[in-house]
Amino acid sequence: MRKFLTLSIALGLAFTAQADTLIHAGTLIDGTQANPKSEMTVVIDGNTIKAIESGYREPQQGDVVIDRRNGTVMPGFIDMHTHLTSQLGPGSYMHKFTNSAADVTLNAVNYANKTLMAGFTTVRDLGDSYNASIALRNAINAGKVIGPRVYTAGKSLATTGGHADPTNGAHSDLFAPPTPYEGVLNGPYEARQAVRARYQDGSDLIKLTVTGGVLSVAKSGHNPQFMKDELDAVVATAKDYEMKVTVHAHGKEGMLRAIEAGVDSIEHGTYMDDEVMRAMKKKGVYYVPTITAGRSVADRAKIDGFFPELVRPKAAAIGPKIQSTFAAAYKAGVKIAFGTDAGVYDHGENYREFIYMVEAGMPPLVAIRSATAEASKLLGVTDIGTLEVGKRADVVAVQGNPLDNIELLSDINLVIKDGNIYKQ
Ligand SMILES: [Zn+2]
Repeated sequence: MRKFLTLSIALGLAFTAQADTLIHAGTLIDGTQANPKSEMTVVIDGNTIKAIESGYREPQQGDVVIDRRNGTVMPGFIDMHTHLTSQLGPGSYMHKFTNSAADVTLNAVNYANKTLMAGFTTVRDLGDSYNASIALRNAINAGKVIGPRVYTAGKSLATTGGHADPTNGAHSDLFAPPTPYEGVLNGPYEARQAVRARYQDGSDLIKLTVTGGVLSVAKSGHNPQFMKDELDAVVATAKDYEMKVTVHAHGKEGMLRAIEAGVDSIEHGTYMDDEVMRAMKKKGVYYVPTITAGRSVADRAKIDGFFPELVRPKAAAIGPKIQSTFAAAYKAGVKIAFGTDAGVYDHGENYREFIYMVEAGMPPLVAIRSATAEASKLLGVTDIGTLEVGKRADVVAVQGNPLDNIELLSDINLVIKDGNIYKQ
């Protein structure tokens, strides 16, 4: 009888105890408001966090242990502003003439891989060409390509000659005038059409360029480029399709109009002042700073011939300003979600934003939260962004403690997305 019992217990165990992945964390930063904890175990079952316990749990048969007792374990990072289908470099301004959809897409596969390996398990893509970021998202979700979870705007929306008009700087006889299907609109009628075309293409959200920008071959980097009726039409149409709206903006007037229209977030925000910050706080609008892009274009503006002459003074003026705007917005209590504008600088160096945020006065723990819990709130996705029981197993780690030295985030030594280990 006794022998039978023992056997059945053994069999029962064999059937019920699945192998888990146990991460032993010297320090655990879970992304919530809780303080970091020492000597913890994160238990992953399939693609889900099954338990988080004090101490280092002993492995049962079949369990895999990932030893990060000398390191810090965090939720996978989220970059709210990337362009996975491009990367600025010498000669980039020729790409619209030389790069095919296939070139763009294959480059994107490489950039997506670098982004994931840098610890960014989720990104927003805020503007592509050929809908390549939509194909990329689908291929990643299907397991055909390795990369972060992507939420994409597809093509950014612009008005004629505006920041995201793809024909800027090209002779007018080279390209037909782009239509709302190509993301260029004028008036509320076309605004609705452009948003619905994004829905039809499979975009997850809407991005529009409500002011001039640095890199477009056009004179102003800050003038307003959408009128009230156009903004109202974009926001109302996007709401019908449950799509969030984010706006590229450097100038104040464009930001005020966009906030009034009801957008969810502002990218760059370079010339925001107290009035803009008050309006953002009142309406709960997030700020996505992209300091890294600013610093990067400011550096490159010093290189002769890197930018067209129309672009260079904009890069020199706007680029260095973003970090001080960020410092003021953080002090003023504007909600901040981490975003870098990856592609304007080299993919895989997204960590630089953390360093610049801390340099500008944000405590390291708050900067990490901006790239985890806060970013997931702006995304509107509830099962990522923190390490809590029941959430998706998106986990990263570094050696040492980034709260003592934020630069440690440049060297990610563990990447788990959806329970799958991509880097160890
Ligand atoms: Zn951008």
